[in-house]
Amino acid sequence: MISTKLETAIRDIADFPKPGIVFKDITPILKDASLCTEVIDAFVERLDGTAIDVIAGIESRGFLFGLMLANRMNIPFVPIRKKGKLPFETVEEPCELEYGSAILELHTDAILPGQRVLIHDDLLATGGTVNAATRLVKKLGGQVAGYAFVISLDFLKAKERLKHVSENIVTLVSFQ
Ligand code: AMP
Repeated sequence: MISTKLETAIRDIADFPKPGIVFKDITPILKDASLCTEVIDAFVERLDGTAIDVIAGIESRGFLFGLMLANRMNIPFVPIRKKGKLPFETVEEPCELEYGSAILELHTDAILPGQRVLIHDDLLATGGTVNAATRLVKKLGGQVAGYAFVISLDFLKAKERLKHVSENIVTLVSFQ
């Protein structure tokens, strides 16, 4: 099962980047090419039947599988980045993180009005980051087609808070 394989591969780093945070390190997944392919296969299977025009991946670990998935689905990938990184005209939104705060940006031409956007990140913690991403997508007139995460920290209950935007929340492994 993909969830068991991911559980085995993901490495817990205690007190990173701050005391009290258990960081879920996905770099061992990236070293395993066939597991990366299985991750993309699992996303494709679970998103079967969802109409998606664009995948928006969140800096920086949301770029890794986000681009692979978009490429597999033969649809555009657009990066959501921290303020000051994107070179073209942007829209911006503040976000609260599990360990800090930031402003996220998206290029104004990344999404056309009416496009159905899958928001992707490596991990769902409190949901602050994807909430800001959701507001960026909506600012450009996009519709949220769903959310896809490799990991969900279910004990933080973010899925319940996201459901009013989209019930379509795909996660491959959950930690309680
Ligand atoms: P949140 O906004 O609280 O849902 O946090 C999600 C974002 O922070 C994602 O971009 C994650 O990569 C990162 N993140 C938050 N908590 C962790 C964690 N425990 N381990 C790894 N990444 C995390």
